[in-house]
Amino acid sequence: MSDASRPLRITALAGGVGGARFLRGLLAHLAAATDPARRGAAVTVVSNTADDVTLHGLRVCPDLDSVMYTLGGGIDEVRGWGRSQETSGVAAELAAYGAEPSWFTLGDKDIATHLVRTRMLAEGATLSEVTAHLCERWRPGVRLLPMTDDVVETHVDLAEPDGSTRRVHFQEWWVRLHAAVPALALEPVGAATARPAPGVLEALREADVVVLPPSNPVVSIGTILSVPGVREALVATPAPVVGVSPVIAGAPVRGMADACLAAIGVPTTAAAVAGLYDDFLDGWLVAEEDEPPVRAGLHVRRRPLLMSSPQATADLAGAALDLALELRPAERAA
Ligand code: GDP
Ligand code: CA
Repeated sequence: MSDASRPLRITALAGGVGGARFLRGLLAHLAAATDPARRGAAVTVVSNTADDVTLHGLRVCPDLDSVMYTLGGGIDEVRGWGRSQETSGVAAELAAYGAEPSWFTLGDKDIATHLVRTRMLAEGATLSEVTAHLCERWRPGVRLLPMTDDVVETHVDLAEPDGSTRRVHFQEWWVRLHAAVPALALEPVGAATARPAPGVLEALREADVVVLPPSNPVVSIGTILSVPGVREALVATPAPVVGVSPVIAGAPVRGMADACLAAIGVPTTAAAVAGLYDDFLDGWLVAEEDEPPVRAGLHVRRRPLLMSSPQATADLAGAALDLALELRPAERAA
């Protein structure tokens, strides 16, 4: 097989809903490709796990599950997260007991996933092993890896009216407070001593292409980068690293990513987000409306970035791949 037709190895870093939606577009693009290297491509996804939380004794991994359900056909298409045709019988019973936290609703079907995960973890399985087991059911069409098997949780410092600081889990800030209370700081607790999960560094080093979907740059991509070794692997990999701006026209498209950027003192612009990846980013897709970042060695392309339909999303993923393939070392040397 000639090098040009060898199936591509694509590695993506991903958060939850935005990452999952982009990845579905990427798989659709690859499935429709005529070029055998793309059609046979193997995709590895390194998932953020710093949103993970224990609720009612259950270990919940929102970003892993969003990717797994979305790519496996089990997602609620309207909400964009959680299981399709979901019911909330357990949540209603918990509420009747006054069981806290009441601000995070777990659907009945979703709870089955968390029961399997919690039981396996209690029996000594790693999160990687649990994820592989859950994916045997969902067959997401990618190799889905948690960023680490160690516990990392983003905690948020909030200013109290009396001048003191209160620390809450990221989910409490995001889901209960809708990130409306400004965060003084965000910390991925546990990251400093976390080890990348098996396969993560290899997937970055051995990839032909690394893609950053338009996931939250602080609490999705940023937390993956906080696992020791991951950022270094991105700097060292011979693969081009190409990203899609999560900011369009100076605003996060959906959600509250601007609140996370504000917490780390970064403006909500496509150029400033690219700046967070300065040491390893080779290519960046920005929207027409945004000022492109300027840096030697960074290849910027303007494309429609709104994932407004499956076709638009597949085209966006295709554009990211086109740019990456133009930047491959073999191509660059030629
Ligand atoms: P989460 O973990 O569920 O918050 O999902 P991610 O971190 O993977 O992605 C969330 C980010 O996706 C948001 O911060 C948005 O900026 C971005 N986003 C959502 N929809 C779109 C879209 O249609 N186009 C682009 N470019 N970004 C989007
Ligand atoms: Ca998330």
